[in-house]
Amino acid sequence: MIRLARSLDRLQRHYDVVVVGSGYGAGVAASRLARAGKRVAILERGREFLTGEFPSRFPDLRQQMQVTGKRVRIGSPTGLYDVRIGDDMNILVGCGLGGGSLINAGVTLRPDPRVFRDEAWPAEIAKDGLIAEGYARAIRWIRPARDPDAAQRTKFKALASAGKALAEEPVAAPVAVTFKETINPAGIRQPACTACGDCCGGCNVGAKNTVALTYLPDAVHHGAQVFTHAKVRHVSQEANGGWRVHFERQDGKAGGAMSVGADIVVLAAGTLGSTEILLRSRAQGLAVSDRLGHRFSANGDIIAFGYGGKGPVNGIGVGHPSKVDGLDVGAAVSGQIEIVDEDDLARSLTIQEGVLPSALAPILPVLFLPNGRLLGALQSLVSGVYKGPFAGLQTFFAVSHDSAAGRLGLEDDRISLQWPNARDEPVYRRVDDALEALVKRAGGRYVKNPLAGTVMGHQPATAHPLGGCVMGRERDDGVVNHKGQVFDGNPRIGSADVHEGLYVIDGSVIPRSLGVNPLLTITALAERALIHLARDCGLTFDDAPHQRERAPAINVPPIA
Ligand SMILES: Cc1cc2nc3c(=O)[nH]c(=O)nc-3n(C[C@H](O)[C@H](O)[C@H](O)COP(=O)(O)OP(=O)(O)OC[C@H]3O[C@@H](n4cnc5c(N)ncnc54)[C@H](O)[C@@H]3O)c2cc1C
Ligand code: SF4
Repeated sequence: MIRLARSLDRLQRHYDVVVVGSGYGAGVAASRLARAGKRVAILERGREFLTGEFPSRFPDLRQQMQVTGKRVRIGSPTGLYDVRIGDDMNILVGCGLGGGSLINAGVTLRPDPRVFRDEAWPAEIAKDGLIAEGYARAIRWIRPARDPDAAQRTKFKALASAGKALAEEPVAAPVAVTFKETINPAGIRQPACTACGDCCGGCNVGAKNTVALTYLPDAVHHGAQVFTHAKVRHVSQEANGGWRVHFERQDGKAGGAMSVGADIVVLAAGTLGSTEILLRSRAQGLAVSDRLGHRFSANGDIIAFGYGGKGPVNGIGVGHPSKVDGLDVGAAVSGQIEIVDEDDLARSLTIQEGVLPSALAPILPVLFLPNGRLLGALQSLVSGVYKGPFAGLQTFFAVSHDSAAGRLGLEDDRISLQWPNARDEPVYRRVDDALEALVKRAGGRYVKNPLAGTVMGHQPATAHPLGGCVMGRERDDGVVNHKGQVFDGNPRIGSADVHEGLYVIDGSVIPRSLGVNPLLTITALAERALIHLARDCGLTFDDAPHQRERAPAINVPPIA
């Protein structure tokens, strides 16, 4: 494997482009601009994980948890699983080189076309034809595929059986997973998926098509420099019109606050990260739209469980190397039920069967059983969880639509979400009804939130945060334009004027719920934004995949 990141000691004073973050938006921006010949630096707050380094035991997973709320701050600021506890909603995002792609389920779907007819989008998105090209490029690089054995997976069959309650049949879900060994578009050899089910813990096989295995190595191949442990605080404009990116180093070395100059800055730190950076930049004097922080959506997203059902599900990952012989689980999602409401888009719903990572296996009794602590101790032999009642545990990921009425702001210098009526959003009742029917059919008990009795509380939770820096026609209805350029908030200049060289390209620009898992659309919009950026700046690049395997570079030790 190739380690991409280098020490911050090697950061130069100035780059043509600084990309903040390293998820889908960042990966596309870095790859395309490096291909266009720009000197690119990527600043990521988390650390790099090579294939094989993701937590596979609970103590390791616990070390990679960071939990932040008003009254709580637990774990390392570079922990992979970043949980934000809010008064109205909890949010889970990824932290590490590759962003959410490291821990997501990789479901790769296009939204219903009605989503793009909503007036929330600037008209150009539907009209200039480039969104179609964006999807085509995203698909070429992310390579969604369906598990050829999806219908044989026990969890798929369990969903098929439960789906009778809604008179719905599941279909195989497209996922960003390599099912047959291949050389990927970045020239990296990816082995075939072993069906271990650990996608959401981090793929230790190298079969999940993460940003860390696709766009980021491509960017590095074209000269981009990657720096981890760099948490960006704000950006400011210099007298000559260039940009300065201010960040804190998190690698424990002296130096603390640092900065780097750039002609172009691409904020791609995700919905929470990019919005937080712009909010802080505004507090430091940058004029931006007063729509900043508005239109936060949870994408109508829910994770819930069915416990105690009659048949086996095999919905707990076995990891790699496998902890349990002879158990093929399948990728984190193999099948889904699609419920399309032709009359009311908001009522459309996708329900996926999910898998919990193997590292969570030892604590499942604690989560689901009243006397679980004792049982947890008794069942410390992990295999107990695979054979006993937990073999019937069903995990559901459901995605639909909400009103995008959340609002992000800064509180004690940290991003926080205000959405007082979030739990009353109609979507939650609808999804609960559907999932309850499925679980009842399977003979189990619907468990909406096994962590309700903990610091997580009863509020809804999402892994699909969107919005905060949404695109609009002008600064009165958006923070960026359809190309991702940040509107200048100075009232003395035109309302569609932008800050030259400052972009936001990630999930934060999406102005409404998508109703499907968002990674493909985030990537497609990023590819589209880069086509525009290249045209505006007179740049050229192609997105042709590498034809040959790239020789692995000499392995260097991890940074911190
Ligand atoms: C458990 C889980 C399962 C999911 N499953 C799916 C799925 O199956 N399909 C799907 O489509 N989506 C899924 N998602 C959601 C999807 O992964 C995200 O929507 C997507 O990763 C967002 O992409 P992004 O480019 O906006 O930012 P991200 O991928 O979130 O990347 C942002 C990056 O910026 C970094 N960053 C943040 N702040 C700073 C800062 N101040 N300075 C420097 N760096 C910073 C972060 O560490 C992160 O690496 C899932 C998410 C989770 C957590
Ligand atoms: S099921 Fe296992 S091998 Fe396959 S993509 Fe997921 S984590 Fe990787």
